[in-house]
Amino acid sequence: MFDIQQIRHDFPILGREVYNRPLVYLDNGATTQKPLCVVQAMTDEYLNVNANVHRGVHFLSQQATDLHEAARETVRKFINARSTAEVVFTRGTTESINLVAACFGQQCMGPGDEVIITEMEHHSNIVPWQLLKSRKDINIKVCPITDEGRLDLNVLERLFSERTRLVSVCHVSNVLGTVNPIKDIVSKAHAHNVPILVDAAQSVPHMAVDVQALDCDFLAFSGHKVYGPTGIGVLYGKEEWLDKLPPYMGGGEMIDRVTFQHTTFNHLPYKFEAGTPDYVATTGLARALDYVSTIGFETIEKHEHELTKYAREQLSEIDGMRLFGPSDDAVVSFLVGNIHHLDLGTLLDRLGIAVRTGHHCAEPLMHRMGVEGTVRASFALYNTVEEVDALVAGIRRVAQMFG
Ligand code: PLP
Repeated sequence: MFDIQQIRHDFPILGREVYNRPLVYLDNGATTQKPLCVVQAMTDEYLNVNANVHRGVHFLSQQATDLHEAARETVRKFINARSTAEVVFTRGTTESINLVAACFGQQCMGPGDEVIITEMEHHSNIVPWQLLKSRKDINIKVCPITDEGRLDLNVLERLFSERTRLVSVCHVSNVLGTVNPIKDIVSKAHAHNVPILVDAAQSVPHMAVDVQALDCDFLAFSGHKVYGPTGIGVLYGKEEWLDKLPPYMGGGEMIDRVTFQHTTFNHLPYKFEAGTPDYVATTGLARALDYVSTIGFETIEKHEHELTKYAREQLSEIDGMRLFGPSDDAVVSFLVGNIHHLDLGTLLDRLGIAVRTGHHCAEPLMHRMGVEGTVRASFALYNTVEEVDALVAGIRRVAQMFG
């Protein structure tokens, strides 16, 4: 049974007020709130276990290492990777994509080689490729979207050439809520013998993501968007690919033997984990994934889909409403009449309603849609129908003020 009030109790922040009004938090695409169990697991580790991992023979270090490696196993199970060697801890989606761009770029790409991305990417799946372009003179090809906000898969097919080395695409758009047909895209890429990186920042919090079922070669996500702590994320990579790539950063942990002349590197996944990892955050992430797993994605998806559908229906009845994208997932982007997105967001905030405004780190997508920015409401498992009603009432009120 899905008891929403019980779930809301797990997130103490949801009980607070802003401007003397109950908080309505609808900025979950940016980051989710944290259940008490995550904060408690991290507090407990700092208070009772804290020691650097992998380095000490002493009791605390071993205990901290056990927690850290248990967290890796929790992630492995959560995304169904074949082995923990395929689970690299990073600081988040952004770092994971930069890692692939840097290491794959160094090893597998040269002047004139091509990466395919899409028009709906977050900046973190655009700029790393531009940085690589400036270093290695690669080409970036962009798959367009349709007016409905879906990838134009016919054009995608035509973008492949004998110089295509990688496809890098988001699973779910953080602006449009489009769920891309990743399995089909993976098949297309593999039919051309091209590996694929999936930006799963906006899918992992909302649906079961099985890397073996998707058959993707790399996948990136952030802990903080799935009820976990900030500063921790994951890069999944097939072992055969990670093995081929050079290290990302140099330092402690990632080495096997070091002399001034030569260094050999640690085995996977440590080759990609230079320096002290955020071992407390990995514990928090594991606790968050356990929390989500206990509720179950069947339940979460059903709840979030109902909310999103209801929100679209209610919003579309507002005069002057423009909705962007299909909102397959827990994201609704919109503009109302001539009201500037920033004005709408600011006035909603005064009513206690937290939404995101602006370009959502997807400026090329804004250009495609012919707007400077939108307002985005994004839902999580703890949001309620009453909160959607508050959003709709808030927008009506602001619209009235603007006449
Ligand atoms: N990719 C997508 C689709 C996102 O929505 C985001 C964050 O909003 C990112 C990547 C970047 O995530 P992070 O800032 O956690 O690295």
